[in-house]
Amino acid sequence: KPVTGPSRVRRLDATLANQIAAGEVVERPASILKELLENSLDAQASRITIQLQGGGMDLLSVEDNGTGILPEDLPLALERHATSKVSSWEDLQAIQTMGFRGEALPAIASVARMEILSRTHDAGQGARLQVHGGEVLASEPAARAPGTTVQVADLFYNVPARRKFLRSAAAELTRIQKVLRQIALANFPVAFQLLQNRRSLVQYPAATDAEARSARVASILGEGFLANALYLEQSDQGMSLRGWLGLPTYNRARGDEQYFFVNGRPVRDPVLTHALRAAYQDVLFQDRHPLFVLYLDIPAEQVDVNVHPAKAEVRFRDSRAVHDFLFHTLRRIIAEQGGDKPQISVP
Ligand code: ADP
Ligand code: MG
Repeated sequence: KPVTGPSRVRRLDATLANQIAAGEVVERPASILKELLENSLDAQASRITIQLQGGGMDLLSVEDNGTGILPEDLPLALERHATSKVSSWEDLQAIQTMGFRGEALPAIASVARMEILSRTHDAGQGARLQVHGGEVLASEPAARAPGTTVQVADLFYNVPARRKFLRSAAAELTRIQKVLRQIALANFPVAFQLLQNRRSLVQYPAATDAEARSARVASILGEGFLANALYLEQSDQGMSLRGWLGLPTYNRARGDEQYFFVNGRPVRDPVLTHALRAAYQDVLFQDRHPLFVLYLDIPAEQVDVNVHPAKAEVRFRDSRAVHDFLFHTLRRIIAEQGGDKPQISVP
């Protein structure tokens, strides 16, 4: 083989860098929805409306009544590593917002046609910015009530190889609804509505009291779950666990109705999974799965949320303590209500 000289090191252009980053956070419409909803929640929205066409592949828009973005910040929000949420390492250790990476908007904008329309409460008017495949096309003053609308059209129009990995509109819609259910369970005071082709598919009214929260849980996991679940609230050593724990007698063949939140974030984590499985071990057959909606709150500095681009995984400083708290709390509650043989099962 002939020896050639070294290849030169070059900087990726911004759009290509964003498209590469998009590979991590923008897998499909559902992952875009998660990022946009998190932004709306970080902006303290109390009402969020999602509009879809073609399962979110043709159009996905999220409209909120949150704080809005200042017109002069709008172009910056589309730049990589630009965020209003953290400015120091200390901020990151005590993070209270869902976002902090400043990556979602530029990543999404690099693989779709995006339009952001936003107005802050104090500004007389808002601004609209259009970005196609990472290129800013137009920026102009525009009218809007306070809040933000981010519209994402023609997902992956400029990266056909990625488009091929998308499924049917129906399959993408299923994933979108799953993301919405997770976020709705973590944000009871916020009203959500999901429409496809202007037809309302899902609506969760704001739930500000216990009864309304139960109603939201029932609308997501079913009335049967609520009738067969215990509400619990336990705390120990700065950690607290609350939520609805399905009775072992009310179980499923699949573990798809299990919702677990750490400091308000939906997460999957092997430590948590193990603790839950172990707690139910004696009262459930191997191939059956419990249903639950559980919220674990621990001091922000005890958990690192910056380990996964889509923030779906976390790392605990003391995972043993978390595991044991969860396991002992759940096992005691399950044992106290004394179901030792599965009786009722749902498919
Ligand atoms: P991050 O959420 O990690 O900060 P994003 O790329 O998702 O990064 O968003 C960039 C910035 O744009 C945010 O920090 C925020 O200031 C602003 N922003 C995005 N969406 C909204 C929204 N719906 N309402 C208000 N501000 C928003
Ligand atoms: Mg974000």
